Amino acid sequence: MDLVSLLRSTFGFSGFRENQEVVCRAVAEGRDVLLVMPTGAGKSLCYQLPAVARGGTALVVSPLIALMDDQAAKLYARGLKVARIHSGLPRDAAREACRAYLDGSLQFLFIAPERLRVPGFPEMLARRRPSLIAIDEAHCISGWGHDFRPDYRTLGDYLPLLRPAPIIALTATATPIVQKDIVAQLNLADPALYIHGFRRDNLAIEVVELSKPERAEFVAKFLDCAATRPAIVYAPSRKAADELALQLNGQFPAAAYHAGLEAGTRERVQRQFQAGQLEVVVATIAFGMGIDKANVRTILHAALPGSVEAYYQEIGRAGRDGLPSRAILLHSFADRRIHESFFERDYPAVDDLDRAARVLTADFQKPEVLCDHLTMGLEIFNKAVEKLCSQGAAQLDMDGNVRATGVSTWRHGYKTQLAHRRAQLEAIVEFAETPQCRMSALVRHFGDHAEASRPCGRCDFCAPHAAAAQRYAEPTPAEERDLSAILSTLKGNRAMAAGRLFTEAAVGKDRKYFDRLLDGLARAGLVTFASETWTNPLGREVTYKKVSLTHEGRELEMAEPLGVLLPEEREASAKSRRPRAEHRPTNGKGSDAAFTPLQAELESRLRKWRKAEADEAGKPAFFVFSDAILRALVEAAPRSIPELRTVRGIGPSKADRYGAAICALCRGQEPPALNGDGAF
Ligand code: ADP
Ligand code: ZN
Repeated sequence: MDLVSLLRSTFGFSGFRENQEVVCRAVAEGRDVLLVMPTGAGKSLCYQLPAVARGGTALVVSPLIALMDDQAAKLYARGLKVARIHSGLPRDAAREACRAYLDGSLQFLFIAPERLRVPGFPEMLARRRPSLIAIDEAHCISGWGHDFRPDYRTLGDYLPLLRPAPIIALTATATPIVQKDIVAQLNLADPALYIHGFRRDNLAIEVVELSKPERAEFVAKFLDCAATRPAIVYAPSRKAADELALQLNGQFPAAAYHAGLEAGTRERVQRQFQAGQLEVVVATIAFGMGIDKANVRTILHAALPGSVEAYYQEIGRAGRDGLPSRAILLHSFADRRIHESFFERDYPAVDDLDRAARVLTADFQKPEVLCDHLTMGLEIFNKAVEKLCSQGAAQLDMDGNVRATGVSTWRHGYKTQLAHRRAQLEAIVEFAETPQCRMSALVRHFGDHAEASRPCGRCDFCAPHAAAAQRYAEPTPAEERDLSAILSTLKGNRAMAAGRLFTEAAVGKDRKYFDRLLDGLARAGLVTFASETWTNPLGREVTYKKVSLTHEGRELEMAEPLGVLLPEEREASAKSRRPRAEHRPTNGKGSDAAFTPLQAELESRLRKWRKAEADEAGKPAFFVFSDAILRALVEAAPRSIPELRTVRGIGPSKADRYGAAICALCRGQEPPALNGDGAF
């Protein structure tokens, strides 16, 4: 099958985007597929092209009318034969669509999921089976997904009738647990899983622990540098958004955006930001859906978002033009507390739902009246009703009256929802608190394990020396001693609970200080963490952090500098500091590089070599040596190994491994071939 020429002739595209071809081929050949790619990656083509290639009619199930209309209009404009059936269209249109479907004159039939519940409709479809079935926004089928739709839940029941067509399920946001659920519920047969495209190479992610009162000042300082704008700041509440926007507006054009503003105001803010008249928008989660601005340089979260999925979507608005951009997340323990209280507020106990469900009848009634029968506040009652509705057990009419639907199986669904929400909170907290490559953690979260093993080289973990929000420094001699003490304590053990390590390493009483050192060791690749659970004698599950030495940590010679960088204390650094530009000057003309032209050239050669060496080993450049050492090397320009050994930060093992190359570069020669043994 010549998919490439079909791509050109039917869709007018000159070539496939990344991953599209392999997916199209699998679907065209009749395989079931689950496709998870971020918004904008080009998922639609992955069902549309195979549909045209296979001939016959493709059945597309889509949960949103607007989405369906948009897709159908685009296909129609390409000269394809398309029909839609959804509640927003006149009855005649549906009848006409069915007739065309049975005639075999359609290439695409779009339907809303609830349509399948209409008696006789699935049987009608089965009279002339589709050649392909696409399920868009497939995460809606899973109780684990955030947009759970009861009508999607029963989708799986009707599919056997429409087989043997291959099924392709598409979504942008499925985590591994949701992916599993989709496969199970749709009963996909030996599906090919494609989970791609979540890595963003131009995005430097930084996570900074900062107390709430310090954040407004931090944001103002950070965005003061013009290179950090345009920017979107996500604030935790409408009030916070208003206040921060007002404050920033004195520095540059800034405005707030949230659901509490009038539609006209929101529309204006969006338009002005798009046009560049506003440089910063301080928004609650509502902002960003409609905007398509390519040059957003910074996304700053002034509080911990509610889930990794939401966080990923929000930072995805930075750097669409492909140029270097930053995402900075500010958080502290207090954020976690706030989310926990939201959780309590928004998710009533199962028991409350039970009581609310018991007073509902088959007739619509006023909530206030029903509530009187219960000793339950109206607010909790309404929340409980909302949850029952989302599980399909209750229904509201236009006036807000409520009735039971007769669905009694909501309990399992609601419990799943609770567990899911809890897991989401745990995941975002873990993301913020675990020192690890931030981009890899995100990619792994979405289930792309192959891609997750490659560090990004840009985030605060991979490249602490280049961090803009948090400055890192080499440890003091006292800290260096304590770091060594932690490593020696670990040497005798395979793995240790962090708490025990804290006690045994005895580096002081301050747990925060200890954690800072431990994170530094992790950042330097000397230790790693694993999350372990243990059931205590009371039957409670306890989760704790287990620490173990990495290969590098075990191999380290004690006399060698550790190559650890520690975050500078904020009090000392916040006042004197400006965010740095994305690229540090390497041409000698820049502000902080007072190099001669010759030195600048050597610096750039060393940098290039360091990058190649690090790439070869699949590690960030920092693992070869830090920028501080690089600078020291440029200044000393050692031409022999003994000279090299006098440079601060170069121990025997580094000298051994890289000495020949460094000295060659300093002599102005080509370095010998890469080490490439991957062992550092
Ligand atoms: P998704 O469904 O993943 O959010 P879409 O399918 O809507 O993304 O595609 C996003 C945009 O990319 C659309 O405007 C689409 O026309 C365009 N697009 C998709 N595939 C290609 C391609 N191979 N070449 C050029 N443009 C493409
Ligand atoms: Zn990284």
